[in-house]
Amino acid sequence: MKTKIWLSSPHMGSNELEYVKQAFDTNWIAPLGPLVNLFEEKLGERTAVSHVAALSSGTAAIHLSLKLLNVEDGDIVLCQSLTFSASANPIVYERAQPVFIDSEPDTWNMCPSALKEAIEYFIALGRKPKAIIVVHLYGMPAKMEAIMKIASDCDIPVIEDAAEALGSSIDNKPCGSFGTFGVLSFNGNKIITTSGGGALLSENAEHIAKAKFFATQARDTAPHYQHSEIGYNYRLSNVLAGIGIGQLEVLDDRIKARRSNFEYYKAQLSHIPGISFLEEQQGAFSNRWLTCILINPEKNNGIDADRIRIALEAKNIESRPLWKPMHLQPVFADAPYFGNKNAENLFAQGLCLPSGSNLTEEDLQRVVTVIRNIF
Ligand SMILES: *Cc1c(COP(=O)(O)O)cnc(C)c1O
Repeated sequence: MKTKIWLSSPHMGSNELEYVKQAFDTNWIAPLGPLVNLFEEKLGERTAVSHVAALSSGTAAIHLSLKLLNVEDGDIVLCQSLTFSASANPIVYERAQPVFIDSEPDTWNMCPSALKEAIEYFIALGRKPKAIIVVHLYGMPAKMEAIMKIASDCDIPVIEDAAEALGSSIDNKPCGSFGTFGVLSFNGNKIITTSGGGALLSENAEHIAKAKFFATQARDTAPHYQHSEIGYNYRLSNVLAGIGIGQLEVLDDRIKARRSNFEYYKAQLSHIPGISFLEEQQGAFSNRWLTCILINPEKNNGIDADRIRIALEAKNIESRPLWKPMHLQPVFADAPYFGNKNAENLFAQGLCLPSGSNLTEEDLQRVVTVIRNIF
C-alpha cells in the first residue's frame, strides 16, 4: 500500500522549534507569557485588527464573543447552516436558540436574502436576533458587503467565523476584520496550526480586555482570588504561541501551496462532465484551505461524490464530504431554518480533496489518477 495522503495535515516551517525553545529557556511554560503577547501582536498586524486575544481554541473565541454580546437564555442567534458544528455549539452553551441560514451558490456561504428573511421574521415576532454568525467556509470569503449592510441596517452584531480563512480577503481587506468580532482557529488541520488554539479579534479594546478576563477564570483585581462572574480557562499556552509565531512566518507560502493545489486539480479535472469548482467572486481572494469539488451524477451516468470518496479511500487517500449542514444534524433537529436547500444540495454533491500545503506533485497525481480512472 502506498503511503497515506491526508486531507490536510500540519506543515511546520523552520523556526517553530526555535520559538518553543525560547519558551523553555525562559521557563514561560504557562497560558500567558511574552510569546502569547507577540503572537497577538503579529495576528493583529496580519488581519489588520487592533485588538487580539489568543485563546485555547476557535470554539472558545466564538463562545466568548457570544458572552461579550450578552447572548442569554432564549435569545435568537442566526448562524450559517453549512459549517462545522463548532460555529453553532457555543450558541447552545449560552442556552440561546440557534436559527440556521442557508448558503448561496456563489460562495457556498450565508445567503444574504435568507438572512434578511430570518431577521424580518423574528423582528416581527418581537424577538430581534442578538447576533449573526457568518463563516468563510473552506477559505472562501462570504458576501460580506451585503451581509454587513443587512446587519448594520438592523443594528445586529456580526461574529465572523474566519477559522478556515486566515489569509483570505475581499478587496484586500482581511477576513476576520469585517465583523464586530473575528474568530480564528489554529487546530491541527487548519492552514496554520499550534496543534490547538484560536484567537478573538476586535476593534473594540474593552471587548478584548473583557475576553481575556473571562478566559482567565474571571478573576477580579484582588490578591485573594475574588470572583464576581463565572469565568473560563481559555487562554493559549505560551509554548503553543511559539509554534504560532513560527507558523505565521510561513503563512504566505502555505497559501501559495494550497492555491496551487486548487489550480492543479482544476486543470486536471474540470473537463470531466459534472465536476465543477468554486470560483472566487470579484475582489475575493481565497486561501484555498481545502479544494472542494461538486459532482453532479446527472451529468455523468450516476457517478456521485461518495463513489469517488470510496475509490480514493481504497488507494489510501483521505477525502471528505462537505460539512453536513447544521439544520440536518440530529442535535439541531428542532432549530428553525431559513432558505432554499442550497446547503443540502451542496452537501449532496460536494467532496473535499486532499489539500495540504505539504502535498507533493506525485501525491496530487495519485489523487487525480484515481478520479480520472473512475470516469
Ligand atoms: C475549526 C473550526 C472552528 C473551531 O475551531 P477550533 O479551534 O477547532 O475550536 C470553528 N468554525 C469553523 C468553520 C472551523 O472550521
